[in-house]
Amino acid sequence: MSTINQSGWRPTTPEKGESAGETFTGNRALMLDEALIFEIGSNETTGVDFAEVPAATSRLGKLARTAPINLPGLSEPETVRHYTRLSRQNYAIDLGLFPLGSCTMKHNPRLNERMARLPGFADVHPLQPVDTVQGAFEVIHQLAHWLVTLTGMHSVAMSPKAGAHGELCGILAIRAALDAKGQQARKVILVPESAHGTNPATAAFAGFTVEDIPATAEGRVNLDALKARLGPDIAGVMITNPNTCGLFEPDLKAISDAVHAAGGYVYCDGANFNAIVGRVRPGDLGVDAMHINLHKTFSTPHGGGGPGSGPVVFSEALTPYAPLPFVEKQGDQFVLVEEETAGEHHAGSFGRMVAFHGQMGMFTRALTYILSHGADGLRQVAEDSVLNANYVLRAMEDVLDAPFAKSGPCMHEAIFSDKGLAEGFSTLDIAKGLIDEGYHPMTVYFPLVVHGAMLVEPTETESKATLDQFIGAFCSVAARAKNGEPALKSAPHFAPRRRLDETLAARKPILAYKDTPKAQAAE
Ligand SMILES: *Cc1c(COP(=O)(O)O)cnc(C)c1O
Repeated sequence: MSTINQSGWRPTTPEKGESAGETFTGNRALMLDEALIFEIGSNETTGVDFAEVPAATSRLGKLARTAPINLPGLSEPETVRHYTRLSRQNYAIDLGLFPLGSCTMKHNPRLNERMARLPGFADVHPLQPVDTVQGAFEVIHQLAHWLVTLTGMHSVAMSPKAGAHGELCGILAIRAALDAKGQQARKVILVPESAHGTNPATAAFAGFTVEDIPATAEGRVNLDALKARLGPDIAGVMITNPNTCGLFEPDLKAISDAVHAAGGYVYCDGANFNAIVGRVRPGDLGVDAMHINLHKTFSTPHGGGGPGSGPVVFSEALTPYAPLPFVEKQGDQFVLVEEETAGEHHAGSFGRMVAFHGQMGMFTRALTYILSHGADGLRQVAEDSVLNANYVLRAMEDVLDAPFAKSGPCMHEAIFSDKGLAEGFSTLDIAKGLIDEGYHPMTVYFPLVVHGAMLVEPTETESKATLDQFIGAFCSVAARAKNGEPALKSAPHFAPRRRLDETLAARKPILAYKDTPKAQAAE
């Protein structure tokens, strides 16, 4: 267990059998260990000189604080170093390959960043008068045009702020369309077994009942089972294409035709659009609503690197129910269509997803990406992402069980199972072993249809040399798991933290440092 020395540093005690020596600081060469900010700072000190506050009577009454809130006081250099050290413990797409399946961790081109930082885009305020932000609206309008064109759909709602938020937007539009037709009895949404967890969560959140559609042995939607379940209680289906086994759903058009004939709508989870952009237009497959993750297909930064953005494209049938606001071109002016200006044409709109218009910074990046690639470049994005995934699949299929390798080529991601690992060894051990090799692990235990799934999405932005190095590491760790090498069970050995009790952390998270034993709060 860790102890704190006087300077606040925490020397680590190597565990038995571990070869690395102990250092006074706990640092390993340039990999600096870092204590919690509460351990470094103290509420007795402050990094700023404030003048003594003159005595005043509080007007807060009973709401006045009675005890200090124990914020750690640090100087500016101490603060900068704390967060810089922590940032070095992060893995990032700018450090190396990030093979997280279904997440599309691709390079974020620097050109996008330059465009997003132009003051006319970066410094606008959502409540600025419309005639002062015509350029920003033109960006939104142009991006909307390309998203509609690339997907072969009718319209797009730009405001949703993530893939899951886009799903909610699409499903709310389906609900509004059914309500407008007086079809409140359609309460069931069918979702394939291999669906992303957000799909059933979205449908349930919007008040629908969720039912599973089984998968075929080849990892695709079972069309006959789906058709057999259609009827007057079915609101629609949510299908991911390409699906989360990394496979194209060739029956999607047949599925759409059957669902439409039965009076339902087709939601397509388009998070994996990067595998088919420029090659397939979901509108041609009968899709009614689909979200596009700008932070996946169109390379805008994910999560901590910037907010997501999940525009939703709609078919003609669902367009009247799309959310407000949206940007429209009237003459040579861009206008914002809102509740007050929507008029009868948009009277069916189910409302708003967000307070304003969406993620301006992400729109600018995504449009830059689209324009700098062009039609041929975008098609090549899809082709190269599929090529890279198949390269990994074929390199690894003799090393790890690849359950769908016989179904033919995969799309943008390759899937493996834990079949054939030594007794007592699991997918988790391979993931932890990859951390020691300097890689963020692939997606593990998802999708659920594959036992001990390992889902690898290399993306098109990796070179053959980078893929070869990753494959070498992946093969090596997989071989250790097949041979039952004991040291792998306690990997990672070289990471700043070892194996954490993830269940305890999820079930009983300690979110406040106060009164908590230091090591417990940290580990
Ligand atoms: C990423 C993803 C989502 C959710 O997108 P977020 O932007 O993370 O909310 C939904 N479905 C699939 C298949 C995904 O890969």
